[in-house]
Amino acid sequence: MRPKILITDRIHEVAIEEAKSFADVDLDFGLSHEELVEKIGEYDALIVRSGTKVTEEIIEKSNLKIIGRAGVGLDNIDTEAARKKGVRIVNSPEASTISVAELVIGSLITLMRNIAHAHKSMREGKWERSKFTGNELFGKTLGIIGFGRIGREVALRARAFGMDVSVYDPNITVEDTREYNCKLVDLDELLKNSDIVTLHVPLIENTKSMIDEARLNLMKDSAILVNIARGGLVDENALYKALKENKLKGAVLDVFEDEPLGDSKLLSLDNVVLTPHLGASTDEAQINAGTVVVEKVRNFFRE
Ligand code: NAD
Repeated sequence: MRPKILITDRIHEVAIEEAKSFADVDLDFGLSHEELVEKIGEYDALIVRSGTKVTEEIIEKSNLKIIGRAGVGLDNIDTEAARKKGVRIVNSPEASTISVAELVIGSLITLMRNIAHAHKSMREGKWERSKFTGNELFGKTLGIIGFGRIGREVALRARAFGMDVSVYDPNITVEDTREYNCKLVDLDELLKNSDIVTLHVPLIENTKSMIDEARLNLMKDSAILVNIARGGLVDENALYKALKENKLKGAVLDVFEDEPLGDSKLLSLDNVVLTPHLGASTDEAQINAGTVVVEKVRNFFRE
């Protein structure tokens, strides 16, 4: 028997085609909560992104066996209600790993080689060569905080650029870092000795504002901080102060305490590269977000 799948948020066409290969698929975007409650009883599986709020009422009224969330995060799904009813939940946090790792390296080079400023200056009709002298990644020490999926991919790329890589992650062992040719260190040592510090941890109670004024003060004046993980990991006021007072050389930020960023002091600084939460914004990551979750749903029904 082919399972019946309802997809209520737009996922990539490639993923929809894949779902149709093993299931009867209905696409219905923009349903109201009431309409979804009304309809959900007919389906074995529901696939959403972040748009559909999957409430206790929807789960209660359903005969769902599995809910697929394309992408990271399960904030829009009542996971407790699903657990109580025995409905499995799958998502695809791994889908954007490479895209994020590549943005880390790309943004770092953008900052270190003044690419954004040089581009702007040329568009203003100028030819300013000495003003934009930069630095190489080669030979610099990169400190990676959080050595999960993204941290490891960043490490591989940094090693390819000839960087030394130090890692802090309380949940890993020396063996985990060995095959990446990285050095496991404690957090203070990492902050003191790194030329570039990049964050790849989740935003949880003990990582909230983990980079605060005291920790920024441990970093070299010539260091760069990269946060392409989650706003809230870095105290933005303390970061602004450190950058303004040249206690830090620069920062790369893709995520912010409040998004969209709005009227922030960070926008007035020259020594930053800012992007509007673009970590997962590639065609590949969008395709993966859908196909990985559809694949997990397919495996579930196969089992
Ligand atoms: P992951 O779960 O694979 O890895 C997280 C790592 O952090 C784990 O190894 C864990 O042990 C470690 N960790 C937990 N608490 C720590 C602490 N206090 N100190 C140091 N390490 C700690 O996650 P991932 O897929 O690598 O994602 C990393 C981050 O990137 C997450 O915050 C995720 O939300 C974010 N992300 C951002 C974008 C974007 O668009 N900018 C896209 C995808 C993921």
